[in-house]
Amino acid sequence: MRRCFSTFTKPLNSPQNPESFLNRCKSIHHFYQIHAQLITKGQVSDPIVADKFLKSVSPCSVPYAHKVFDRILKRDVFLYNTMIKAGSATPDSCRDSLVLFRSMVQVPGLSPNRYTFVFCFKACGNGLSVCDGEQVRVHAIKAGLESNLFVSNALIGMYSALGLVSEAKKVFDCADLKDIYTWNIMIGGFVGSELMDQAKELFDEMPERDVVSWSSLIAGYVQVSCFAEALDTFHEMLQMGFPPNEFTLTSALTACANLVALDQGRWIHVYIDKSNIGINNDRLLSSLIDMYAKCGEIELATEVFNSRNALKRHVWPWNAMIGGFAMHGKPQDAINTFEQMKIKKVPPNKVTFVALLNACSHGYMVEEGRYYFKSMLDIHGLEPEMEHYGCMVDLLGRAGLLKEAEETISSMPMPPDAAVWGSLLRACKLHKDIQRAERIGSTIKELEPSHTGCKVLLANMYSSYGRWNEVNALREIIGKSRKKKTPGCSSIELNGAFHEFLSGDQSHPETKRLYLFLDAMASKLKLAGYVPEVGEVLHDVDEEEEKETALSRHSEKLAIAFGLMNTEPGTIIRIVKNLRVCLDCHEATKFISKVYEREIVVRDRIRFHHFKDGSCSCKDYW
Ligand code: ZN
Ligand code: ZN
Repeated sequence: MRRCFSTFTKPLNSPQNPESFLNRCKSIHHFYQIHAQLITKGQVSDPIVADKFLKSVSPCSVPYAHKVFDRILKRDVFLYNTMIKAGSATPDSCRDSLVLFRSMVQVPGLSPNRYTFVFCFKACGNGLSVCDGEQVRVHAIKAGLESNLFVSNALIGMYSALGLVSEAKKVFDCADLKDIYTWNIMIGGFVGSELMDQAKELFDEMPERDVVSWSSLIAGYVQVSCFAEALDTFHEMLQMGFPPNEFTLTSALTACANLVALDQGRWIHVYIDKSNIGINNDRLLSSLIDMYAKCGEIELATEVFNSRNALKRHVWPWNAMIGGFAMHGKPQDAINTFEQMKIKKVPPNKVTFVALLNACSHGYMVEEGRYYFKSMLDIHGLEPEMEHYGCMVDLLGRAGLLKEAEETISSMPMPPDAAVWGSLLRACKLHKDIQRAERIGSTIKELEPSHTGCKVLLANMYSSYGRWNEVNALREIIGKSRKKKTPGCSSIELNGAFHEFLSGDQSHPETKRLYLFLDAMASKLKLAGYVPEVGEVLHDVDEEEEKETALSRHSEKLAIAFGLMNTEPGTIIRIVKNLRVCLDCHEATKFISKVYEREIVVRDRIRFHHFKDGSCSCKDYW
């Protein structure tokens, strides 16, 4: 703070007007000095000077701006607008804007103009209620300004921000005047409420589009996990000659990461380097790191991370890197990155700790995990949340410390959810503690009677003990309670095109060749010593993959076989699966990697599996 007192190079009591120094103010102390000068020179009551001063000081301190404003005797509409605008920027101060608006309309001879309404609607959308907004709207109608282009755009924005999209659409449909902002705001409204069909429909109707229209559509698809649509739209945008901005590129990279579309991700990386777009943007940097990590290229992720030393002021790239190391089972690297982050004085957030604890968990680093968990509150002042407790239960459970894991659950300040119990149950299965598993199973049943994932785990445990009566009883309950199953789906990218396979899928044009290949593959694997894991009668997944489908037709096997058929020997095969990989597919893929001498990277819902020479990077626990 000491630095703030460093005064201007030119003394303020120079003959020059104090207000001319305003755009050089770097701290609130500079404003104090100018304010003092304005008072001494008697300029503070000049409305033009006061407005200039308020405009400059309000982004720095709204309360101080208010103090100055309160002492101005003659306030015009411009001064009010400046103050209402300043308050509308954050949810904390938007109430002030409305208070000012109400006092403004009381002043005789003072009427709000279009900007007043624009800022008021912004304030209402930023954390006030729809009632407040509608009161302001009544004033806009009275002033005859409701149909003004700026005002109606702001009104559409307000309803959208409050999640009242149908109200926003009514205003949109009735608006006499529309410009590209009107359309973009309405599309943004649909996107914000995850109504992508409506967003797309409106997008198609647009008379003209700009980079904002394209970017918000792409971001919307990413938000609702329609990653292929996001990338298709991104390509269409490029074809139509719209250069993307950093937001578009961030969304496109997120889509690539989720689709394991490494080639396209790499292309975007080259594009960023060549175009210099967002080269200083930490968000974009973190999505680049995340893309490489999620596409199985942790070395490239590290390279990108290390190459941008000047950046990394925000927590995002650090979180992406630590999360990447965790996903790839590199706990020591995650810890080193975290320590480096502390040295650089970048404050960690809750996401950092989820990644860090996950890394410790995958690396069986119990001591380190305990230490970092404790440090959250002790050193960093962050209260652990459900997810962090979940990580700790997973960490202790994996290491076989089942009693301590169960005690951790009991010590939680919030009621544990079924996911936390589920991770302890999985650990019981791994360490073959059937008594504890049964006890936990009944707790989960009370907590969430419809939770099928836990019943599947328990059924599989019983089956490994040959307790078929229990297995059958559970099977029946699972069959009845299951709502809509999520079908297992795996995809592979070949030359920029995505091939998706469901379990037992026969819809692909190359199905015939694929199934012949699968049969040949099965024989080859058997010769190499692979035995199908039929013991696992139900899949160890939260959403069971269709059980009527034979194990050999699981979606990831189809995708891997398709990759083997269509790529040169030695090419790495990258698969992404929507559910947790089943035990049998995991075993089979280990054999495939050896028999076909291929590296196979599978990203499932939980983590990465890097298969090479007959073993997997997850060390068979996932
Ligand atoms: Zn499987
Ligand atoms: Zn694995």
